[in-house]
Amino acid sequence: MNHWHPESWQDKPAKQQAHYPSLEALNETLAQLAQLPPLVTSWEIEALKEKLAAAARGEAFLLQGGDCAENFSDCNSQIVTNKLKILLQMSLLLIHGLSKPVIRVGRIAGQFAKPRSADTETINGVTLPSYRGDLVNGPEFTPEARTPDPVRLLRGYGRAAMTLNFIRALSDCGFADLHHPENWDLDFMSHSPLAKEYRQVVEELSHSLKFMETLGSARNSDLNRVQFFTSHEGLHLHYEQSLTRQVPNRSGYYNLSTHLPWIGFRTAATTDAHIEYFSGIQNPVGVKVGPGMSSQWIQELVERLNPHSEEGKLLFIHRFGVNNIAEGLPPLIQAVKRTGRPVLWVSDPMHGNTESTQNGYKTRHFDNILSELEQAIEIHRSEGTILGGVHFELTGDDVTECIGGARGLDEAGLKRAYKTQVDPRLNYEQALEMALAITHKMGR
Ligand code: PEP
Ligand code: MN
Repeated sequence: MNHWHPESWQDKPAKQQAHYPSLEALNETLAQLAQLPPLVTSWEIEALKEKLAAAARGEAFLLQGGDCAENFSDCNSQIVTNKLKILLQMSLLLIHGLSKPVIRVGRIAGQFAKPRSADTETINGVTLPSYRGDLVNGPEFTPEARTPDPVRLLRGYGRAAMTLNFIRALSDCGFADLHHPENWDLDFMSHSPLAKEYRQVVEELSHSLKFMETLGSARNSDLNRVQFFTSHEGLHLHYEQSLTRQVPNRSGYYNLSTHLPWIGFRTAATTDAHIEYFSGIQNPVGVKVGPGMSSQWIQELVERLNPHSEEGKLLFIHRFGVNNIAEGLPPLIQAVKRTGRPVLWVSDPMHGNTESTQNGYKTRHFDNILSELEQAIEIHRSEGTILGGVHFELTGDDVTECIGGARGLDEAGLKRAYKTQVDPRLNYEQALEMALAITHKMGR
């Protein structure tokens, strides 16, 4: 820690990194990236940290969601707006049901790098490097596509910048005005079995807004726009390093590629490069935790990633699976309590519940996701801690990747619109249903 530097991770073992054929080409690209302007600012990051501190105290709730992996081709108006729309709609349901401010964080504008269970993939006797996300290589099973190409780092930065630019423009104008939630309607909304409950909530909220404005207790500027933050897995350490900067009049370094970077479950060993890198940045940071993590390990994470006991600085995003959470989560909560340092607990009910169908589709059952989430709420209640947020893989589109939900999507229905290249996401309706379920379980 004493000698921390944006590049100091390079002295430690780094898992899940791309192997580039030319280091020279990689270094040239990194030098270019390091010259480009940041994507987010330290003010935004510090503002998010304050909000996350409130969530840790139970005074706000974090809604983090988006794709498992964004594709470069997803950087278009419709896909980005649909993702914003579903997050806005879910946040309205949560604000209404929990009576708390909701912090909206997308897995967006940079969620381009993926950890994989194997370095290579073999099909019909041909072995090629695994697809590691559009930041690294392409999904097509050809040597050209699968060879890591550093130019993709610049393209990823560009896609992230375009996506953020669009999000900022939308949030600054009528689109994100709380007075006009009709702007967030999605095309297929009118056919949804959940439409009625959603409409009722929107109507009640509109009345409350008018009431507050009549009383003069709400500032107009707060209501005319909503705030949006970004996050991604900080997996590709060369990329993260090149966007890690010092900021005038502030101490320390900020990762200015995103507001809230997180460390994946596979790269969370305390002796490894990812923890080294994350231990030196000022951003709030998340760590995915789950089966196999010991009390000592999680306590070391707390010491390394939140040595100054800052509120809102460290998030533990737990993902155990429906059958493991009851046994696995309580010891981790108790271990963290013994450190006496503040953390924000978040439930990711997706990543412990992935399975494959006989036809080879990677899927998740809505009921398992919901059950893990409900168990998480109860476990935190009985441990006297606070579940301050949720983390979902979802999309604003009408995909068929997870089984179940109000419309009873079954295994045979998966093939209709199965689009993900990596993990299965909740579709628009399943995501809304999940938000409603949270309010039923945690609400007033
Ligand atoms: C992910 O969030 O897509 C992911 C790979 O999660 P985890 O690190 O929890 O497995
Ligand atoms: Mn995933």
